[in-house]
Amino acid sequence: MMEKKNLDWANLGFGYMKTDKRFVANYKDGAWDEGVITEDDKVVISECAGVLQYAQTCFEGLKAYTTEDGHIVMFRPDMNAKRMADSARRLEMPVFPEDKFIEAVAKVVKANEAWVPPFGSGATLYVRPYMFGSNPVIGVKPADEYQFRILVTPVGPYFKGGAKPLTIKVSDFDRAAPNGTGHIKAGLNYAMSLHPIVTAHNEGYAENMYLDSATRTKVEETGGANFIFITKDGKLVTPKSDTILPSITRRSLCYVAKEYLGMEVEEREVFLSEVKDFAECGLCGTAAVISPVGKIVDHGEEICFPSGMEKMGPTIQKLYDTLTGIQMGKIEAPEGWIYTVE
Ligand SMILES: *Cc1c(COP(=O)(O)O)cnc(C)c1O
Repeated sequence: MMEKKNLDWANLGFGYMKTDKRFVANYKDGAWDEGVITEDDKVVISECAGVLQYAQTCFEGLKAYTTEDGHIVMFRPDMNAKRMADSARRLEMPVFPEDKFIEAVAKVVKANEAWVPPFGSGATLYVRPYMFGSNPVIGVKPADEYQFRILVTPVGPYFKGGAKPLTIKVSDFDRAAPNGTGHIKAGLNYAMSLHPIVTAHNEGYAENMYLDSATRTKVEETGGANFIFITKDGKLVTPKSDTILPSITRRSLCYVAKEYLGMEVEEREVFLSEVKDFAECGLCGTAAVISPVGKIVDHGEEICFPSGMEKMGPTIQKLYDTLTGIQMGKIEAPEGWIYTVE
């Protein structure tokens, strides 16, 4: 067993910390090279690189962590590989082969074994694969050369001392257009979300609830997490839309709800007007798994969920405990969900 870095694991924040190794592969003359693990954390590209001029970049996010029996594992990396391929295709970028993606992620996690937080610390190793157009582009077109990189950084529990329900607002900004790029993990979706989130934070809200931009009547998602709702009779309802990012956490929770907890699951259009009738609300994403929402403010009108502002609602808590139990190896996982790094 490799010696761990001497970090205060239990008190890590959610931020970037430079680790020892990263993975880099280059695409040139129509092909990807083998890629290498390197200690060089600097990227040197042309001042006119496609990513700098026209934001040709996409990314992924997943976690590696230590299970109770001491294995380093990752949660469903094949889903990230596939989603990154979808993102690349939509942005006219070359696909990094899905099997090579999983291999590379495993390799960089292994190379940074000393940075993988120990079991029980609440911390994890956040893994960030990303790709960008690297050669000069001035007329608008896709780049010819690309770099695919994976960096890792240890992160603390998203909510220290347990998750308190959030207050969020219905945004007047739009996140995604019909037939646009809302369904892929493109950097450009985040660039344009910065002004709305800074505005929301200044007003005292934790997040924005975005509505569908065509009719502004249906719930989409926040800047970086999908919604789940629990009805008063215990059903899980989650918005279906072509313009939301297909969260792996949300899809996993829907499976867990159905197959482990025997719940009914509805993936359908969700109207803002019916949100007041739900019993619980949560935001799902890799970072926090589920963040409970206690209150949604729609232009001064408050929607307060019966689950309150003190703790997660009981059903969302059960979903959270089951999914994190599966991730940590305490509950048997569905076939193929846990990838052991070795
Ligand atoms: C990454 C992301 C999510 C969460 O997806 P996970 O796969 O669960 O981490 C949700 N919404 C947006 C816009 C995202 O970029």
